[in-house]
Formats: sequence, structure tokens, C-alpha cells
Amino acid sequence: MKSDIRVCSAWRGRHDRPVYTLSSSCPECDAPTENSAPAPYNPEDTYGEYRRARKRRTADE
Ligand SMILES: [Zn+2]
Repeated sequence: MKSDIRVCSAWRGRHDRPVYTLSSSCPECDAPTENSAPAPYNPEDTYGEYRRARKRRTADE
């Protein structure tokens, strides 16, 4: 069962803690949100981690 709760995709670089919302964009920084429910066996997950790491680096600048 999937959750409708989403989380700010850029929270690691922009907020002290995850910003949860039901919207498709963050109410605090307007970044796109992503589904907060983890997918333990998603084959794309490692690629997602790589993508998020890149985002985290760019967000620090
Ligand atoms: Zn945000």
C-alpha cells in the first residue's frame, strides 16, 4: 500500500529535517517533492541514491 505523503526532494540541503507535504512541491522552498515511502527492492534505487547525492552537493553551493 502506497503512501500519499511526499517529502521535499531538496530537504537535506535546505531544511534541518524532512519537510512532508501532500503537494507536488515543497511548501517551504518550492522544490519538487518525492514519494516518502521507501522501495526496498526497487532496482532503480541505487541510481536514485546517486542522483540524490549529486543534488545534495549542488544544494550546498
Ligand atoms: Zn523544501
